[in-house]
Amino acid sequence: MMTGRLLRGVGVSPGIALAPAVVLEWRFPEVPDRSVGPAEVEGEVRRLHEAVGAVAEYLNMLRERVLHRAGLEESRIFEAQIMMVQDPDFLASVEHLIRKNNLSAETAFEFKALELRVAFQGTSNLRMRERLADLSATQIRVLRHLMGRSDDELAALREHDHVIVVAHELSPGLTVQLDRDQLLGLVSEEGTRTSHAAILAHSLGIPAVMGAVGALDRIKSGSLILIDGQTGTIRMDPTPEELEVAKAQATRRHKLDLELEGASMSPAVTPDGEAITLMGNVDLPDEIELAVRHGAQGVGLLRTEFLVTGRANLPTEDEQLEYFRRVGAAFPNHVVVIRTYDLGGDKFPAAFEAPTEANPFLGWRSIRVCLDHPEIFRPQIRAMLRIAAERKIRVMLPLITRVDEVTASKALVEEEAAKLKAAGIRAAETLEIGVMVETPASVVMADRLARVAAFFSVGTNDLTQYTLAVDRGSAQLAGRFTPLDPAVLRQLVAVRQAATRAGIPVSVCGEMASDPLSALMLIGMGYDTLSVAPPTLPMVKWLVRQVPASVCRAAAAKALEADSPEAVAAILRQAAQGHVDKRLLGP
Ligand code: PEP
Ligand code: MG
Repeated sequence: MMTGRLLRGVGVSPGIALAPAVVLEWRFPEVPDRSVGPAEVEGEVRRLHEAVGAVAEYLNMLRERVLHRAGLEESRIFEAQIMMVQDPDFLASVEHLIRKNNLSAETAFEFKALELRVAFQGTSNLRMRERLADLSATQIRVLRHLMGRSDDELAALREHDHVIVVAHELSPGLTVQLDRDQLLGLVSEEGTRTSHAAILAHSLGIPAVMGAVGALDRIKSGSLILIDGQTGTIRMDPTPEELEVAKAQATRRHKLDLELEGASMSPAVTPDGEAITLMGNVDLPDEIELAVRHGAQGVGLLRTEFLVTGRANLPTEDEQLEYFRRVGAAFPNHVVVIRTYDLGGDKFPAAFEAPTEANPFLGWRSIRVCLDHPEIFRPQIRAMLRIAAERKIRVMLPLITRVDEVTASKALVEEEAAKLKAAGIRAAETLEIGVMVETPASVVMADRLARVAAFFSVGTNDLTQYTLAVDRGSAQLAGRFTPLDPAVLRQLVAVRQAATRAGIPVSVCGEMASDPLSALMLIGMGYDTLSVAPPTLPMVKWLVRQVPASVCRAAAAKALEADSPEAVAAILRQAAQGHVDKRLLGP
């Protein structure tokens, strides 16, 4: 949305930044349709292979550079890109088209690239879209090479000391190349709170606004822009008055951050004496340290997909064990809840033959993949059984919709435990297995699932999308994607009741718990264990320490009577106002 010098998007990483914009015009170039004479055809095929070779070499150089700067996991993005650009089937199809229709290499390449993109598109799966962004990035590189244009999308950045990068889409491949000392902020037209770049910006503390439709047309490279990563606003050429306001806001926020950090190590106890357990969600190894620094009482959600993304092969049992040991060592006195692979979309090793699906979020993902391919699941189970002999861990199964998915998983655990024992390998005899409640089916079946699950952890991100039929990755629908919708809240009440009746623990690990008003609602509904993104731990802790649980309960009871998420938010805001520092509640 835009009015005058103001552009609006979704604030995905809070903070205020002021700097010249660098607009990365990393879009598909206009490729003229060009035919060649029969005598030139083989020359075009050669040109294609030269271009692909040069791009693979360039990507390899980037991979090395990122490996030194950001580490192995981040550099793996380029492994996937190198595989994509050299894909023999794709190249054979381009060659065929050049020869069949006497086309120039770039014309044929563009045509086939378009076909491939169409096959990838139509997916609403966020990770799949990120894979598409990487695919596009490699295709753009080849096309630019064939058309004699520069390969280096970051050349424009070298003209400034500090910048706010503006792009159509911040693919993982682009994001990892950005110099973190130079980068003050990020703006993109695509993307939402749960995109890779948003998660990265958040964990690095870089203000970011995504879903800013029209940014590329409206923002001029080199012009000064002011972004607010909380409200999602972008001001172009700010006036001296606007700058003054922004500076004052930034100072206030900085002060607040320091105060919040200061409270990180105090206990998470409400003013009326109720203890809340605050754990951290860990997606990437980078976040372990921040979770510890912010006083996380363990890890409530250890995502394991990063072990797979962009890799040619699946990680071995020992590699996984090593990672679990690393996380466990950071939390010697607390539990770590490991989530089994939530694979799907592009979250497969590059060599895995994943199907192309019209609706990957409703498709073959997560526990379904693990149970269909025990050869993927078993090594993970073995690694978990082995770490369980050394540390306090729990295991949770994502995307459960049926009771037998839990019993089948448990049977595999038993089998692997027996094999480890027979082989004399140190391992636990069993695992404490819980269920992620993140589908309406699992809410409805909560009483039955509670018979086979050691605990519940509510994944409000997926539960919200499946309940409201709103794609969690859609920038356009971001306003509708809210766990404060009464339809979601009623399910949270039902899950809480089912867990209490069955006598099993229940927690929330979706993003909902990281939002101040929603955290208040959750506490009011009786959720006393929340697992949140590590950067938000101080804020949630502060909130817990300021609002009596009795106030949360009264507000939640009233909010549950409301008909709309807006009415719910208004009730919660009003309840919070008397207790919470206003700065926490945003505009
Ligand atoms: C969720 O769905 O709420 C969740 C925590 O899992 P993810 O975001 O990884 O799907
Ligand atoms: Mg989920």
